[in-house]
Amino acid sequence: MNARILIVEDEPAIAELIAVNLRHAGYTPVQAHDAASARQQIDSALPDLLLLDWMLPDSPGIELARRLRADVRTRELPIIMLTARAQEGDKLTGFEIGADDYITKPFSPRELMARVKAMLRRASPMAADEAIAIGGLRLDPVTFRVTAGVDPVSLSPTEFRLLHYLMTQPDRVLSRARLLDAVWGDHVFIEERTVDVHIRRLRLALQPTGHDRLVETVRGGGYRMLPA
Ligand code: CA
Repeated sequence: MNARILIVEDEPAIAELIAVNLRHAGYTPVQAHDAASARQQIDSALPDLLLLDWMLPDSPGIELARRLRADVRTRELPIIMLTARAQEGDKLTGFEIGADDYITKPFSPRELMARVKAMLRRASPMAADEAIAIGGLRLDPVTFRVTAGVDPVSLSPTEFRLLHYLMTQPDRVLSRARLLDAVWGDHVFIEERTVDVHIRRLRLALQPTGHDRLVETVRGGGYRMLPA
């Protein structure tokens, strides 16, 4: 479940430096060298985070950020702006149009990675690799192991992702549309009913230890993971 990070940067040396560091940290970097190809990449698959250079050859990075914020599909996409210009005014403009963070060139790869990690943890909890435990149910995203008390729970990859997403947001009502988005991806067109099928399978797998009660149906709302 490596987070996909789109690097939009026209200077190949910088783009490559970032990509190498991201890969080393366990992420999946993809690259675009101008705003137009960034748009194409985002249209074909929504990344988990965008590293966006301010100065691009075809149109300013800030213009791309503004467009992404105006579109429902990309409104929540986390954006970290990269810029060589250190003026406070630019920084403010970046935040006004909705960049979530800002880093000034030259930056240390270490600092950038720390920002990326923090941003992903905030924006998409599933990208974090920490084990989660709720009411005796424990899920480890690194080993793909789920245990209920001392018993191992066997899940298909889809049910695993579904449980993972539910567990990262205990006590929140998650609509079927939202679950589809998070678990199946936003470009997959399947019926919302599919979610119910997989919830049923997930509950069956959790039933022997009674942990199925943690997955609650919210009438007219969706599903909720009870906090314990
Ligand atoms: Ca540039």
